[in-house]
Amino acid sequence: MAKTAQEVLQMIRDQNIEVVDLKFVDMLGTWQHCTYASELIDEDTFTMGMPFDGSSIRGWKAINDSDMLKCADPGTAWIDPFMSTPTLSLICTIKEPRTGNLYARCPRAIAQRALDYLYSTGIGDVAFFGPEAEFFLFDDVRFDQKEHEGFYHVDSSEGRWNTGKKEEGGNLGYKPRYKEGYFPVPPIDSQQDIRTEMLLTMGKLGVPIEKHHHEVATGGQNELGIKFDKLIQSGDNLMTYKYVVKNVARKWGKTATFMPKPLFNDNGSGMHTHQSIWKDGQPLFAGDKYAGLSQLALWYIGGLLKHAPAILAFTNPTTNSYKRLVPGFEAPVNLAYSQGNRSASIRIPLSGANPKAKRLEFRCPDAMANPYLAFSVMFMAGLDGIKNQIDPGEPLDKNIYELTPAELAQVPSTPGSLEDALAALEKDHEFLLAGGVFSEDFIENWIAWKLDNEINPMRLRPHPYEFSLYYDG
Ligand code: GLN
Ligand code: MG
Ligand code: MG
Ligand code: MG
Repeated sequence: MAKTAQEVLQMIRDQNIEVVDLKFVDMLGTWQHCTYASELIDEDTFTMGMPFDGSSIRGWKAINDSDMLKCADPGTAWIDPFMSTPTLSLICTIKEPRTGNLYARCPRAIAQRALDYLYSTGIGDVAFFGPEAEFFLFDDVRFDQKEHEGFYHVDSSEGRWNTGKKEEGGNLGYKPRYKEGYFPVPPIDSQQDIRTEMLLTMGKLGVPIEKHHHEVATGGQNELGIKFDKLIQSGDNLMTYKYVVKNVARKWGKTATFMPKPLFNDNGSGMHTHQSIWKDGQPLFAGDKYAGLSQLALWYIGGLLKHAPAILAFTNPTTNSYKRLVPGFEAPVNLAYSQGNRSASIRIPLSGANPKAKRLEFRCPDAMANPYLAFSVMFMAGLDGIKNQIDPGEPLDKNIYELTPAELAQVPSTPGSLEDALAALEKDHEFLLAGGVFSEDFIENWIAWKLDNEINPMRLRPHPYEFSLYYDG
């Protein structure tokens, strides 16, 4: 059960908590924090909030208008397992000091407004999200990357994608074979103990844990399974997930990365996101249509597919994200839906006879996404589909990678770059403004930030591969 403010204050006294760490998520999805002597924490921390300077936070206020408040959610309390001094952690939402309103650019406040919008439509009363965030563990990413590159030679007969081929053979010394990381037992799986520690640690912090396993890529790719949760809680869980993964990795002398494509020519890391809507305790996605879905769920899919190019600007928000969305690595490349077909960007998992398990899995997102924003944009696209009864078309039940060129031409593709996704967002964002969930200001600020800080600086830098192509030319 989530704690009340009174219970958290009691917990601070009972457990001799010396410091309280207030965390909040910034626009890009990183936790920022400030730690207070516990005497400074009282009821006001949960109602009015604590002041801080918003001008130094990426993409937020200007220097001349910098005061902000962070307001703690008592339901998010846990004792930080990585600190040597008893430290209580609380997740905050950001408020405007003058009005006391939720800050329009606070991602957690946007998720709250998305839920308020759901209630106002009368469509449902709960939205569930279940993210599957994959990540790599490296000893030293520069070394690991070099070693990895060494396994390949580029074979130009591979055609358009020209990804090169793994040179097989030799004694691998308990290394997983290429694309066979999923999932032999130790000693081939060398990261079992690390994942167990990660899983159990986040379980102690209240994240609903399920399982862990090695993933397909050979370079030490992993996934921990957590149970779906309500929209905001699932965002909180994902933030805690990343915090625990990175801090346990550090204890073991490793670094964890959620970047979607750290290694050329091996599987990337996604964050498939399962989703469903409920009302009055009843699942609204179960019915008697295709794959046991309801008409409402099909419309939700229609909305997701229609707006996918725009929402990828949030669910796949980095230049590196689009190096993952290429054929041949279990990542979706085409905007289609299917039961069981993992090459479609929307999959309807087999859920047996249990209508409560009926959900869809959007396979595009990666864990560079800010979870509150990613869940909110997917949800707003789906709600737009329901409101406008958007037909998702026919399902695609073949392996998309094996379609003929004529068949493939019928299926729309995921955007080829972050720039393309931002251009789609610029054209198509009315559906995000419904109910005041996102503001025009937020969208403009997001696009400008990504262009100025990521796309253009990338464009200006010579790429290592350009040296191999052109240096001796
Ligand atoms: N790593 C794959 C991706 O990029 C997914 C692999 C899996 O979980 N089946 O989406
Ligand atoms: Mg999984
Ligand atoms: Mg996986
Ligand atoms: Mg999955």
